[in-house]
Amino acid sequence: MSRKLGAFINFGIGVSAVFVIVGAVAFGLGQANQAAASAPVKTVSPTKVSTTTPAKPPAVVPSSTAPVEPAGNPKAVAGGKKVLFFTFDDGPDPVWTPQILEVLAKYDAHATFFELGSMQAEHPGLKEQVLAAGNSIGSHSISHAQLTKVSAAKRHHEIFDGPQSKCFRPPYGAENAKVKADIKAAGMTPVLWDVDTLDWQRPGKQAIVNSILKGAHDGSVILMHDAGGNRSQSVAALDEALGTLKAQGYAFAAMDC
Ligand SMILES: [Zn+2]
Repeated sequence: MSRKLGAFINFGIGVSAVFVIVGAVAFGLGQANQAAASAPVKTVSPTKVSTTTPAKPPAVVPSSTAPVEPAGNPKAVAGGKKVLFFTFDDGPDPVWTPQILEVLAKYDAHATFFELGSMQAEHPGLKEQVLAAGNSIGSHSISHAQLTKVSAAKRHHEIFDGPQSKCFRPPYGAENAKVKADIKAAGMTPVLWDVDTLDWQRPGKQAIVNSILKGAHDGSVILMHDAGGNRSQSVAALDEALGTLKAQGYAFAAMDC
């Protein structure tokens, strides 16, 4: 079942930006499921994050450099390839984010990192590395608060004052009408996922690989984590899965966030 909402996808090569709205469909999986499906993250104190540096639009280059069509489906703009959208939540982390970046580069792959404002403030320089490698950054709030359970003021702060992006992934996937309204008012689009690898539970590399391969279909958004604990299994699983999927003809693109 699709769990993404209006992910904006950018296959722009060079300066052009092609926006493809991928399925604005959310199926009725329960809030409890969504909350249970996401990683608990260590408590971090809310930190005011500078909003003066807008993220540079990422240059997203799929493995194939076929000409970009002005509009249309992901396959067409990715040179006929099937496309997957890997996403990494809860970073940036000084240990794991660079390792994820290294694996992505190995396969000429790009991804979207849903970062916390608190982590960005704690670890300056990493978001620039993420962007410089052709990836994109979405907001995952400031402190990973469950936005359906906080005051209106805190909800507003977590959404409006977090990382600069056009994409917002609510922590734990927890959203309601108020959360959605604030995300929209802040100029962002909610982005959930299709495939939850449950990598944060550290079920073993092979279990994570199997989740990815089983859930991978053209256009799938895959949820993984580059922070919040030891992510060595995530790194190893990504390496193996990208090798297999690339051989199956997939390209790996960042969303236009
Ligand atoms: Zn998270």
